[in-house]
Amino acid sequence: MKIASIASGSNGNCYYLENDNDAILVDAGIGVKKILERMTNLGLSMSKVRGVFISHEHTDHVLGVDVLSRKYSVPVFMTQKTYSSYGKIIKDSLLNFFSPGKQVTLGKIHVHPFLKSHHAAEPCSFSVSSERWNVAVMTDIGFKCSNVISHISNADAVFLESNYDDEMLDEGPYPAFLKKRIASDLGHLSNTQAGLLVLEHASSRLKHVFLSHLSANNNTPELAYETFNACIKHRKDLIPQLFITSRHKESGLVSLD
Ligand SMILES: [Zn+2]
Ligand SMILES: [Zn+2]
Repeated sequence: MKIASIASGSNGNCYYLENDNDAILVDAGIGVKKILERMTNLGLSMSKVRGVFISHEHTDHVLGVDVLSRKYSVPVFMTQKTYSSYGKIIKDSLLNFFSPGKQVTLGKIHVHPFLKSHHAAEPCSFSVSSERWNVAVMTDIGFKCSNVISHISNADAVFLESNYDDEMLDEGPYPAFLKKRIASDLGHLSNTQAGLLVLEHASSRLKHVFLSHLSANNNTPELAYETFNACIKHRKDLIPQLFITSRHKESGLVSLD
């Protein structure tokens, strides 16, 4: 399997996962022109993409979905409740509903959606498997529920939310109600929570960590990187390659071999 972040941050998310024959996207929260530009930079083509899986209806995850499906005939997968809250129309022939807990298979890619804790209609994370690899895509998670724990423990790679630095959020410009919501169990995962999650629950098979969905106002790539490394330094068996994803550009295309 090969994986990449096409865009990641509080203003737009899109992740790419492929095996030899097929590919999927998770979320399409930036404009389609940008998605294509960045995929092209990585030598990737939309013709290999068998579907886009939507985690929840917030704009930073769905902005480009309708154009992507219309222009490139990419099938869209989301839950029925997410679709009801999404507010736009996807062509019937391209719209597919999934249920949390029920696996969807496209070619030899198996997508396992599972519920997460976030202020949305029916938000889901995904564990994506192909050949012997498991990749978890977990952003917009208020806290480490039992689903998060069980999927991180089986993951070879993870796109993991590292949204905010505690101090920056505390001292930052956001109104009190918003700070409270971000830090709540229905909000986002902090740098420290992401690091501790991996420290306490990842197995030594975890080889690639993409710290994802960084806040522009309450975090910096340096803080996310340092906090994560400080958390996991006591696990001598765990030496994942660490990537800080960006809202401004794609990551490299990382091979899990
Ligand atoms: Zn988000
Ligand atoms: Zn969200």
